[in-house]
Amino acid sequence: MSLEERISGWIDAHEAEFLADLARLVAIPSVRGEAREGAPFGDGPRAALDEMLRLCAGYGFATAEYGGAMGSADFNSLPAALDILGHLDIVAPGEGWSSDPYAVTVREDGCAYGRGTDDDKGPLVMALYAFRCLKELGVELGGGCRLLFGTDEESGSGDLHYYYDGHAPAPNTFTPDSGFPVYNVEKGMYRAEITRAWPEDAGPGPGLRSARGGFRVNVVPAEAEAELSGLDAPAALKLGGAAADACGVELYAEDVPGGCLLRVHGRQAHAATPWEGCNAVTALFAVLAALPLEGEAAASVRELNRLLPHGGWRGEAAGIAQGDALSGELTISANVLELSASGLSLVCDARVPLCADDSNCRAPFERALGAAGFAVAGEMVPGHHTPGDGAFVRALLASYERYTGLKGECLATGGGTYVHDIPGGVAFGAGMPGFDTRLHGADERIRVSDALTASKIFALAIVKICNKEEAK
Ligand SMILES: [Zn+2]
Repeated sequence: MSLEERISGWIDAHEAEFLADLARLVAIPSVRGEAREGAPFGDGPRAALDEMLRLCAGYGFATAEYGGAMGSADFNSLPAALDILGHLDIVAPGEGWSSDPYAVTVREDGCAYGRGTDDDKGPLVMALYAFRCLKELGVELGGGCRLLFGTDEESGSGDLHYYYDGHAPAPNTFTPDSGFPVYNVEKGMYRAEITRAWPEDAGPGPGLRSARGGFRVNVVPAEAEAELSGLDAPAALKLGGAAADACGVELYAEDVPGGCLLRVHGRQAHAATPWEGCNAVTALFAVLAALPLEGEAAASVRELNRLLPHGGWRGEAAGIAQGDALSGELTISANVLELSASGLSLVCDARVPLCADDSNCRAPFERALGAAGFAVAGEMVPGHHTPGDGAFVRALLASYERYTGLKGECLATGGGTYVHDIPGGVAFGAGMPGFDTRLHGADERIRVSDALTASKIFALAIVKICNKEEAK
């Protein structure tokens, strides 16, 4: 029997144990909590770390723990060839679950439901089962392989330095915290806060009293609202209706003393894929720009509507549109607005291609906004790229192709992954293309058969990489 077949047989025979071990981790509510001694990200993440260390040690792997923030399990003690990096912290379950989020429930659709089944406890257990499989099959590796698990990926990756401050990354790292096949290019990020202040001075004509929209910098907002003076609801709807229609949003208005309250309803999306949403803040700008409003607040909004127009997520109007073949197009989304009688703040989230830098992105953006009277604050974070044609990535893709029968390829992502700052890192698994894991949502899930396939892929990839076998 070939090694590929032996791996497959072993993993298939351990489905029940895999699910039971996953359930031990899913049962722990490892949402970030208050820091305390030995638990920098709170009791939940620390408890999940301890449980994972127990699991790994129980299968005979040497473990270590780093400041209560990260842990590791070693396949062997040879010089490092490969690190596999995942995380044990979770996003709070939220509402809307049809089974206990802290239990692993396998339903008739063949999927295992529970918070962390996909992100990222499940993939860590898949990697642990790849370790178990190779060990129990007696497979020897020519290089070192380490499983690393952090506890703060969801809240800013403050965990990584606890390990990486004292340890060099292996020559190759993959994080099973994304999807198959391989994500080897990550866009950079430019988060800009645009501000402007003006004297509080309500003139006699219709004006803009206040406005707000959005709640998180990396989310395209679905809701925005503005309070107007000197204009009633019917007039605002009549004059702003066409702009709202053109933006594809719903516009509501109600009378309030001396004016009206406008509400815009669009569609939420992740900031890395603004075309999937309908930005309520930029739509509100378009509606306000169509109204006969006086004063500096309204004038500022008209400028923002010109420089960051609704649907203009490529950044053309601000002079920063650009792209490259490897990482794709720049995207920008105006996501959090606060406007009062005396000033405004608007936070934008731009995902920038590898070709973008201060001189062709930040500087022209600051110039364009500055010329219109706005101040801009914010630094650029560079992108990440691991070559797709090296032996490492070819070994990953060959392992993926072997067990899925699908064509492997390298993809770019606008979202930053856990390996963004790790040289030679890529994201690899564990979700299969086209499968909706309901990441961060209610009823998060994995397909059990896919999870077993991912575990086989990891096992074969470990062998290829640590034994420097060329991809077939
Ligand atoms: Zn994750």
